[in-house]
Amino acid sequence: MLEQKGNLFILSGPSGVGKGTVLDALLKDYNDICYSISTTTREPRKGEVDGEDYFFASEDEFKSLVKKDEFLEWAKVHNNYYGTPKKYVDKTLEAGQDVILEIDIQGAKQVRDKFDGGIFIFLAPPSLKELESRINKRGTETKDAIATRLENANKELEEKKNYDYLVVNDQVEDAIKKIEAIIIAERCRL
Ligand code: 5GP
Repeated sequence: MLEQKGNLFILSGPSGVGKGTVLDALLKDYNDICYSISTTTREPRKGEVDGEDYFFASEDEFKSLVKKDEFLEWAKVHNNYYGTPKKYVDKTLEAGQDVILEIDIQGAKQVRDKFDGGIFIFLAPPSLKELESRINKRGTETKDAIATRLENANKELEEKKNYDYLVVNDQVEDAIKKIEAIIIAERCRL
């Protein structure tokens, strides 16, 4: 077998589209894909665990990490900062393992500029109306936060043209199957 670096998969899509559900299912089925845990200044949601869902940091801590060039990419998303720790991604890919990032469109753009060969997947809702209903049902955000997320969704959807793959999350099982197919195909790519 040839020694090969891992693949870097980048998954983006508007808030509420179901990235979390799709990712959880993927990570269960593919225990050889490593999920890169991001750092964020957002307050933890109920049930979220530091070091599992995110590395939660203060704004000062986050800015100091930016200064030390510790992020592969970082961005302000819906009024909070989010960033991908660089060392983890580098080390895992070097070891020949695949990594998946779940990041917003600004971060994906930075990865596209810096990184050669990432595989960019955009997860879209069937419609904006459906997206609104999913965010409301999730019930994890305040009214203001929901409004910001919906406003941003429009801009985010326009970005899908810059991705390699578009997956519409109408039925979650179908969306998972499609992303699995992308992963399998990319692993076979010469
Ligand atoms: P949430 O607060 O709902 O967990 O995430 C909000 C948004 O931040 C989502 O669109 C998610 O993809 C994005 N996000 C999460 N981690 C990162 C990251 O490390 N970098 C960037 N640029 N976006 C991220």
